[in-house]
Amino acid sequence: MAAHIAFVEHLHAELEGLRSAGLFKAERVITTPQGGTVHTSDGRELINLCANNYLGLSSHPQVIEAAHEALRTHGYGLSSVRFICGTQDLHKTLEARLARFLGTEDAILYAAAFDANGGLFEPLLGENDAIISDELNHASIIDGIRLCKAQRWRYRHNDMADLQRCLEEADAKGARFKLVFTDGVFSMDGTIAQLDAMRALCDRHGALLGIDECHASGFMGKTGRGTHEHRGVFGQIDIITGTLGKALGGASGGFTAARREVVELLRQRSRPYLFSNTVAPPIVGASIAVLDLLEASTALRDKLEDNTRWFRQAITQAGFEIKPGEHAIVPIMVYDAVKAQQLSARLLELGVYAVGFFFPVVPKGQARIRVQMSAVHSRDQLERAVAAFAQAGRELGLVR
Ligand SMILES: *Cc1c(COP(=O)(O)O)cnc(C)c1O
Repeated sequence: MAAHIAFVEHLHAELEGLRSAGLFKAERVITTPQGGTVHTSDGRELINLCANNYLGLSSHPQVIEAAHEALRTHGYGLSSVRFICGTQDLHKTLEARLARFLGTEDAILYAAAFDANGGLFEPLLGENDAIISDELNHASIIDGIRLCKAQRWRYRHNDMADLQRCLEEADAKGARFKLVFTDGVFSMDGTIAQLDAMRALCDRHGALLGIDECHASGFMGKTGRGTHEHRGVFGQIDIITGTLGKALGGASGGFTAARREVVELLRQRSRPYLFSNTVAPPIVGASIAVLDLLEASTALRDKLEDNTRWFRQAITQAGFEIKPGEHAIVPIMVYDAVKAQQLSARLLELGVYAVGFFFPVVPKGQARIRVQMSAVHSRDQLERAVAAFAQAGRELGLVR
């Protein structure tokens, strides 16, 4: 009992520490489906600039109907992992469709992209091998690499010279296989990995190249296949991981797409796949409908591109500094953490939902409001959002 009390007191102190450091994350309660606007539990309507709903598919009528249809025909869930009795025709169809969409031989589903990354490295690579990872890679990649016995190198973010140094060091150590792994798009800056340069470097060193496409699948590249299409190396990436929980529908689920042998071995040995429940039929059916939509027309990714271009220009014209680029993630730089929080709070009062990010999520002195464009945003909504930014920015002395 005393140990129990001491433990709770310890947790309480940890939580207080987070609160007093301004790092405590409160969750806002939304009462509507995800969309260009959302309602919060206090009954207000907000223009939503912070969802990963890039293509607006999380409440698209065809996607919802496909989920209903799969629910009717294939049930609510399978109460099983895949290899016991959790594989339906729908799962096989979705894996084949993802592989085709992404330009690989095969694909394997996971409960989440976090699991796809967590279960990727350990089954494929051993202590004689090398994993070379961008220093800003997603937490799930870092965790996945931790679980693997391969030797590790970290290169400076997006720095090709430093990547080359790592490849040379791994060669000098006689690594059997080398896997370079990067986010296709980095979520805090919207930076797009230089996959063309990376492919060339990897080829020169006989290294494999893997990418996490969570912020790219469905809309990057002319037909939305991803960062590899955007950078002109479609069909040339060895391993692609991604999520069904962002542009590709927004529910949950993840995947790894790769050569047949890679996928086969993951089915045999990847622990989050072997020891976790199959993806629910409504999500699988809806994801197939998403790929139908995206393969039939580029209208949604074109609209997203158009909204992104318009917003980047309008917010700059309003006097704000943004991280230059072309991705739908638009970091609006405030630098000062307190100002970023004040700006976000004032925007909320003005009906715009946009979250501030500051240390330790981004480097000290690099605080920002990160907004994300969606194909469901109307021009009117974006105009109102920019006007709110301009007003709040003037009040806080951030712009003139
Ligand atoms: C969101 C995200 C993930 C996790 O995806 P889930 O399917 O939600 O687990 C992994 N990697 C990157 C780069 C992400 O942005």
